[in-house]
Amino acid sequence: MQRFENAREAALALRPDDPVYCFRPQVLKDDCRRFMEMFPGKTAYAVKTNGEAMVLRTLAEAGVTAFDVASPGEFAAVRAVAPDAEMLYMHPVKAQSHIRLALEEYGIRVIAVDHEDEIAKLTRVVRALDIDPGTITVFVRIQTKGSATYELSKKFGAGPAAAVELIDRLGRAGYKVGICFHVGSQIEDPDTYERALASADWVRNRAGVEIAGLDVGGGFPAEYGHDPNRKKPQMPSLDEIMARLGKDIAEWGFADTPLVAEPGRVIVARAFSLIVRVLMRKGRRLYINDGIWASLSDSWTGKITLPARFIPDPAIRSRNGDRDTIVPFKVCGATCDSVDILSRPFWLPETVDTGDWIEIGHIGAYSLSLRTRFNGFYPDDFVEITTPFDEGGMPEGFASLETMGS
Ligand SMILES: *Cc1c(COP(=O)(O)O)cnc(C)c1O
Repeated sequence: MQRFENAREAALALRPDDPVYCFRPQVLKDDCRRFMEMFPGKTAYAVKTNGEAMVLRTLAEAGVTAFDVASPGEFAAVRAVAPDAEMLYMHPVKAQSHIRLALEEYGIRVIAVDHEDEIAKLTRVVRALDIDPGTITVFVRIQTKGSATYELSKKFGAGPAAAVELIDRLGRAGYKVGICFHVGSQIEDPDTYERALASADWVRNRAGVEIAGLDVGGGFPAEYGHDPNRKKPQMPSLDEIMARLGKDIAEWGFADTPLVAEPGRVIVARAFSLIVRVLMRKGRRLYINDGIWASLSDSWTGKITLPARFIPDPAIRSRNGDRDTIVPFKVCGATCDSVDILSRPFWLPETVDTGDWIEIGHIGAYSLSLRTRFNGFYPDDFVEITTPFDEGGMPEGFASLETMGS
């Protein structure tokens, strides 16, 4: 991989017409170690957030020894770069053949359920393979109510009374039993974890089995951009959230329970930015070479504001407008699909033009992993960058929180 100090250098050297991912391994290691130092338990990186081999390898180098996986593809991705790492199979609804593969081929011994039918599948595999259930920890996923950009409890999780039944059933079958929840991604309310811990406590107090572990899931927020016309949204910092979580864990009596977290976004968001090119400027519209079907779906479906930095092409000698005036541009994606328009504008200097580049920061989470081959576009070029996005001078523009023209 070619290495540059910053994205501007990379753009001017390569003059790329296709999107280029800027990987920052040191930022990834720093953010990962920071999380592991703050969290008082095991950190299992959620592979779905960004499962690139370069990411998994760098995390293993940084000291991550456990990965949250959900599919045979993810088992293989982890095994390929970190053969000794532990895998936690935390998807609550699985194919029986995948459960068998997990237990038989990958030696996975930590698994999640939220329904009795899933216990039945697991037990069929455990019997067929003649495994001692006492060597398996089954986490019962409980429902949570929270405030996150993506709510996931509508889809998964047992209600409190059902969770108690599942725990007792698992205990009678000889499994070790834990409780897990996942509050959704990019939480916006620091009370979210406390509400989930209160539910976990309610369930634990009614279950007839000793709880072998508590898995608090993911949801820890990453830092994104903000609209220059608005006050910065009052997001709690990671330090504040972690301090609060530690206090809540102690208050709800889980301090002596082995803890697990499954962070994704907070660990990998800052580790990548993306260089895109302006293929066409039409008035206040920019047509770029990436979009919602490639790297930018997360900013489209979530209420996420990505920080953007203008990289003017020095070959453009004459420009219209004033370079110090920052204005909103509607951003149209690369495909022919009429919905491929970002829901938030980018705020950039008035002078931006066809042929210029834009560096979009903090796109490491749910961007590369959600790319499609739609319309034949599949960005897959990478460079290594040594300076963190945030240290490269102020981004000259921002994606705003407001939908344009509304
Ligand atoms: C997606 C997911 C995660 C990671 O969530 P982030 O918000 O990216 O931290 C963790 N656990 C489970 C079960 C998930 O589905």
